Amino acid sequence: MKSVVFLDVDGVLNTRTTVKRTPYGYTGIDDARVKILANAFKRYGYDEIILSSDWKELDEKHMDYLYLVSKLGQCGLKISGHTPGSSRKRGKGINEYLNLHPEIEEFVILDDVTFDFGKYEKLWERLLITNGIENVRFASRTPAVEAILFLDSIKNFNIN
Ligand SMILES: [Mg+2]
Repeated sequence: MKSVVFLDVDGVLNTRTTVKRTPYGYTGIDDARVKILANAFKRYGYDEIILSSDWKELDEKHMDYLYLVSKLGQCGLKISGHTPGSSRKRGKGINEYLNLHPEIEEFVILDDVTFDFGKYEKLWERLLITNGIENVRFASRTPAVEAILFLDSIKNFNIN
C-alpha cells in the first residue's frame, strides 16, 4: 500500500506576501510552511511527494529546483516524482500518474488553484485548496477520509 501527496508549490509553500526569493529571484519558500507539510506527511505515514507544480518543468540541476529540493530536505522531505504533462492540466496529469501507479491507495492533492480537478471526482474529493498551507479548505463538500485527516493535521499543527 502506498500513499502520496501531489504537491503544488506556489500558493502552498509560499504566498504573494512571501519575502524570500529563489536563487533566480522568484518567490521563495517559507520554512514554517514546509514544517507544516512535513508534520502532516509524517503523522499519517505518507510515502511519497509527487510534484504537480510548474516547478516540475525546471531542469533538476536548475538552481531553483535545487533550492526547492533543499528546502524540503531540511524537514526530511523529498520529491519522488513528477506528474506527466502540462502543469496547467493538473487533474489530467495526476489521473494519468494514478493510472500508471495502481499501487497508490491513498492520496491528497495540495493546490491553490482548482484547474481541471473538478473533471475527476476522485481527485476533487481529495483536493485541499490552500492560500498558504495553513489556510486550507476542502474543494469538495464530500471530501474523502484522507483529505479530512490531512486537513485536520494541518489545522492542529502549531507553527510556533
Ligand atoms: Mg500554485
